[in-house]
Amino acid sequence: MKKYDVIIIGGGQAGLSIAYFLRRSSLSYLILDNQEKCGGSWNQTWDSLQLFTPPEYSSLSGWPMPKSEEEYPMKDEFLSYLSAYEKRYDFPIRRKSKVLQVEKEADWFKIKTNRDILFAKTVVSATGTAANPFVPHYPKRAVFSGIQIHSVDYRNADEFKNKNVLIVGGGNSGAQILAEVSKVANTKWVTLEDPNFLPDYIDGRYLFNQATQKYLGKTNKNTDDNLRASLSSIVMVDSVKKARERNVLNAVMPFKEFYENGAVWKNGTKEAFDVVIWCTGFRANLKHLAPLGVIENGRIKTEHTRSVKEPNLWLVGYGNWTGFASATIYGVGKTARQTVKEIRAELNG
Ligand code: FAD
Repeated sequence: MKKYDVIIIGGGQAGLSIAYFLRRSSLSYLILDNQEKCGGSWNQTWDSLQLFTPPEYSSLSGWPMPKSEEEYPMKDEFLSYLSAYEKRYDFPIRRKSKVLQVEKEADWFKIKTNRDILFAKTVVSATGTAANPFVPHYPKRAVFSGIQIHSVDYRNADEFKNKNVLIVGGGNSGAQILAEVSKVANTKWVTLEDPNFLPDYIDGRYLFNQATQKYLGKTNKNTDDNLRASLSSIVMVDSVKKARERNVLNAVMPFKEFYENGAVWKNGTKEAFDVVIWCTGFRANLKHLAPLGVIENGRIKTEHTRSVKEPNLWLVGYGNWTGFASATIYGVGKTARQTVKEIRAELNG
């Protein structure tokens, strides 16, 4: 029977960050990841994705990302960095190991994978959100006969050439996918409210610094009073700037419902579409923790990253409710450091 002090579920940037701090302890630990290769959900983003922060703000703890070819790294450059990071520290990681269920047996967690059963004193769940894409409710969605995909399944615009494409969602994914698809297709962009474009001089650096100041309680407002900025505001990366020059960044308010060939607008007019791309975000992927009875409304009540109901369970990387900016490259290291501090204190390791 294999027993560990800590089992980390998920081998993306959050899982690796936890491992980085655990390797300095005397605790036994293992990362379980269901994918074949390194990189977590970065493998499931579109081909042309460019990060919105330069390498020094796109680095995990301990080892900075090397300089990228352009100012902002492409996703493949970040994937190479993650892979090198994993090799550099030689983390104990088992791939193609999907955790099906986590149960409690006396004081131990019993972890059932697709391959075997493992036991651990503590568990860190770092399974991300990509396996739980969110699509909002629009009436009669099932009667629409066109193609519907979520941004998690979008790779490039090739298959949408000359099609009528409806893109739903006003964040960075929506803006960047619109920018690309609009080069080869007729597009319409639906957002819940007017998209919040940041000024060209602002990138992820500003957002992280701003959010850090707020987190530390040093300010509760933006330094530029006229600026409405948050981590979900749209950063004007090159592709989005070019789309602005082509005058395609024009959003319209949501439609009323679907009909067989497309969407019905609020005034009753119908518009035909071949494809709908949902850029509407994600929810935490927590299915494997259901047997513990800790999930409420798709979340787990936490104090910092520690489950309140099950104190030997920690959750990292799902969003601000699991540590400040923990769903970003810049923020996850700080969250991981504090989490491992708590685990070491609990296990005296
Ligand atoms: P993931 O990368 O999803 O890793 C979780 C791992 O757990 C995966 O390998 C998954 O397969 C595995 N797993 C899931 N369930 C199980 C299971 N039951 N058993 C075993 N393994 C399992 N952040 C930035 O800082 N800068 C950016 O520019 C930026 N751009 C982004 C662009 C897009 C389009 C998206 C979607 C996100 C972006 N982010 C950015 C946000 C963030 O950095 C990523 O979402 C990040 O990949 C989250 O890492 P993670 O380790 O928490 O989760």
